[in-house]
Amino acid sequence: MITDSEKLHEECGVFGVFSQKTVNVASTVYYGLFSLQHRGQEGCGIAINDEGVIKCYKDLGLVNDVFTPMVMKSLGEGNMAVGHVRYGTTGSNDRSNVQPIVVNHIKGRMALAHNGNLVNSAQLREELELEGSIFHTTSDTEVISYVITKERINCPSIEEAVNRAMYKIDGAYSLVVMSPSKLIAARDPRGFRPLCYGKTEDGRYIVASESCALDAVGAKLIRDIRPGEIVVFSEDGVRSIDDHVGLKDSSMCIFEYIYFARPDSKIDGCNVHQARVRAGELLARSHPVDADIVIGVPDSGLDAAVGYARESGIPYGIGFIKNKYIGRTFISPGQSSREDKVKIKLNPIAEVVKGKRVIMIDDSIVRGTTSARIVRLVRDAGAKEVHVRISAPPFVAPCYYGVDIDSKENLIACRNTIPEIAEIIGADSLGYLDIEDVTKLADGSSCKGFCRACFNEEYPTPIPQGNSKNKFEQKIDKSKKKNKGKGETNEELQ
Ligand code: SF4
Repeated sequence: MITDSEKLHEECGVFGVFSQKTVNVASTVYYGLFSLQHRGQEGCGIAINDEGVIKCYKDLGLVNDVFTPMVMKSLGEGNMAVGHVRYGTTGSNDRSNVQPIVVNHIKGRMALAHNGNLVNSAQLREELELEGSIFHTTSDTEVISYVITKERINCPSIEEAVNRAMYKIDGAYSLVVMSPSKLIAARDPRGFRPLCYGKTEDGRYIVASESCALDAVGAKLIRDIRPGEIVVFSEDGVRSIDDHVGLKDSSMCIFEYIYFARPDSKIDGCNVHQARVRAGELLARSHPVDADIVIGVPDSGLDAAVGYARESGIPYGIGFIKNKYIGRTFISPGQSSREDKVKIKLNPIAEVVKGKRVIMIDDSIVRGTTSARIVRLVRDAGAKEVHVRISAPPFVAPCYYGVDIDSKENLIACRNTIPEIAEIIGADSLGYLDIEDVTKLADGSSCKGFCRACFNEEYPTPIPQGNSKNKFEQKIDKSKKKNKGKGETNEELQ
């Protein structure tokens, strides 16, 4: 299987719609999620609100596979909806972890979709468990839903419960919450993950992780939700609550611009394509090399390659064809080598690179093995020299905010110098975007500060202890081990 294990995985995408009338909100969410599919391919779900009754359908798989015409019909109409695409960064790839989460609580029902990772979820979960809460999933989104519903007991409104919950939860979260009568969007005070809203011509309000999802449903971007802001959509209109705005220094994830987001999205006022082109230009200035052609590794290396070519004056060429139909997981029918599988996914155009000194731009190197294979493909296609340029600084540390890199052992830059990495991947030279330049690529962004922790280990939050993707599953295993020999069997513990 090609699992892209050496690529960083997207986190999640959230989507919400609020309409004054009962309409086919399910299809709006479907198209919205379809355009956010790049943020998560493990599972997806839609929860529809029809006059206070919340119906939800979710499963493992891609939007197109999960939401068949029959499922869409069964969801029916409504005036509000919440959707989610998932790549799990906390909790295993299990059906129970797919979102939205729908909960019944003392004051009604609530559906919740979340992008990001909390840094204090283990602690909060333990506190809640000690009070008697029973968790059905291993994701930190359920922790958020418990904190909100607990606050709701003594709160006059759901938005106030979200507001109070935000004093308790810490880390990265962009949330869309749906109550029987309101749709609420909230972004954590540091603004790690993007969140924006817009409006369609017929008056529906749309909330989405990225503006490309607004475009897909014909909505005009109104603005980004500010770090720490809560925006409430209800029959009374749109209301902003800013109690948490400015409480923390903003630390928007710079890697959204480099890799995660779609190039046609605008995040905090800065277009992602232009940010990547700028990264290429900065790279050309700091790491020039004599060459005949600049090519990009699809998809996110392409825009930076355009920038590098423009700044250096070296012609840009289309060096690779990517198989559009391969998807995230390709099942190999035989025992062919991994090299073959990379080639099935990515094929160089020999006529473009043959006999040339090639500059190849990619967005990142994680372990180095995929980069080595790609360099070899270009050499086998006849390139005379291959100079690799990376539109991000080297990865030296894990991310605790929703990106699936949680171990230093997997990062080639933790164990090797840049010349050593060049040798390992077989490149004639290697250059990374300088750490000082990385925030320059988001020029024009309304965000005042950026997280670069995976490049410089300067974490904007306390580092959570024992944080890993499957931390809640691990906790169960440990307790089994601890209690063994004390008269309790594993079965009893389950
Ligand atoms: Fe983004 Fe890296 Fe910060 Fe994670 S550590 S939020 S990937 S910049």
